[in-house]
Amino acid sequence: MADRDAPLDRDPNCLFCRIVAGEIPSTQVLADEHVVVIRDIGPRAPTHVLVLPRRHIPSIREVGAGDVELLGRIVAAANEVARQEGIAERGFRLVANVGEWGGQTVPHLHVHLLGGRAMSWPPG
Ligand code: 5GP
Ligand code: ZN
Repeated sequence: MADRDAPLDRDPNCLFCRIVAGEIPSTQVLADEHVVVIRDIGPRAPTHVLVLPRRHIPSIREVGAGDVELLGRIVAAANEVARQEGIAERGFRLVANVGEWGGQTVPHLHVHLLGGRAMSWPPG
C-alpha cells in the first residue's frame, strides 16, 4: 500500500525501515500490511525473530492510545510465528528493549520472540 511509505511513517536512515522496505535483505518469516517478522541476525536462542511494525515508531516510549491496535497485531504476529516455529506449547519470551538502559540498539520499535530453550530470570 502506498501510505506504508509515507514520509511521516518512515525514517530513511533507520535500519529497520530499510529492512521493511526491502532495501536491506532479511529473512522474513511473516509479513502483512502492518508488521514484518524477520530472523534476528545474531540469534540468542534456537528461535529468535523480531516483530517490526512497518511504520517507524522509535520505541515503546512513543506508543500512544492510537497504537493500541498495532500493538495487538504485533502480539498476534508473534503468536502466529511461535506456532509456526513449534515453540508455542512449551513457551517462549517476548521482549521489548526500550532506550539506553533497556538495552535497545535499533531505534525502531521491535519485539523479540525468543524460544526453543528454557529462559532464565531475571534478565541481565
Ligand atoms: P535491540 O538490541 O534493539 O533490542 O535489538 C536489535 C536486534 O536487531 C538485535 O538482536 C540484533 O541482533 C538485531 N539486528 C541488528 N542488525 C540487524 C540486521 O541488519 N538484520 C537483522 N535481521 N537483525 C539485526
Ligand atoms: Zn524505522
